[in-house]
Amino acid sequence: MKIGIMGGTFDPIHIGHLISAEEVREALNLDKVLFIPAGEPWMKADQSITEAEHRVEMVRLAIRSNPFFGISIIEIEHPGWSYTVDTLEQLSRDLGSDTSLFLLIGWDGLKTMPQWKAPYRISTMATLVTFPRPGASRPDITDLEESMPGLSKRLIEFEGTPVGISSTDVRERLVAGKSVRYLIPDNVENYIAEYSLYKSK
Ligand code: ATP
Repeated sequence: MKIGIMGGTFDPIHIGHLISAEEVREALNLDKVLFIPAGEPWMKADQSITEAEHRVEMVRLAIRSNPFFGISIIEIEHPGWSYTVDTLEQLSRDLGSDTSLFLLIGWDGLKTMPQWKAPYRISTMATLVTFPRPGASRPDITDLEESMPGLSKRLIEFEGTPVGISSTDVRERLVAGKSVRYLIPDNVENYIAEYSLYKSK
């Protein structure tokens, strides 16, 4: 089995996440893409994040119509900071040795990987698949090789459709009372309205 891992804060999930995941899934012929909402993302420790329960529910709604998409709440169930290396260790144990993991990550995320916990270990446990993120420049693989030796031979640079949307942008629009139609799925938009999320952040 080939399983894609799409980690993120998903505060909220938007079509940039969904389009990238679907394009990579199709191109690499993945059996499934698992969306893994972060419990406490250490890289966003200085920000206030929407409750995990809401972020999880929005991911569930967003992926519902795609049989190739699934969700794992292991990072939510895990107390403390969410570290990708720990998530990959647990997934490899749970899914067994005949599963190959593919870590899907936008250019912006890949560039920060040298600051993550155990980047080299991550790069050996999963095939890293990176894709364009408008506003972020292409990562310098030579730089990344310093913390992840051999990465250039294993990394897949996927040239997907650039979608210039961020969760920050969606939140700002919601706070300003602007439309987010077509930036996030309709059912996620309805959920946000029902629970009055992103009113004052
Ligand atoms: P925020 O604006 O709150 O920082 P975000 O939009 O960057 O959020 P995250 O949930 O932090 O979303 O991102 C999770 C993953 O999705 C990262 O690998 C990131 O690179 C990728 N990603 C997010 N938005 C896009 C996009 N528009 N196109 C491609 N990849 C994206």
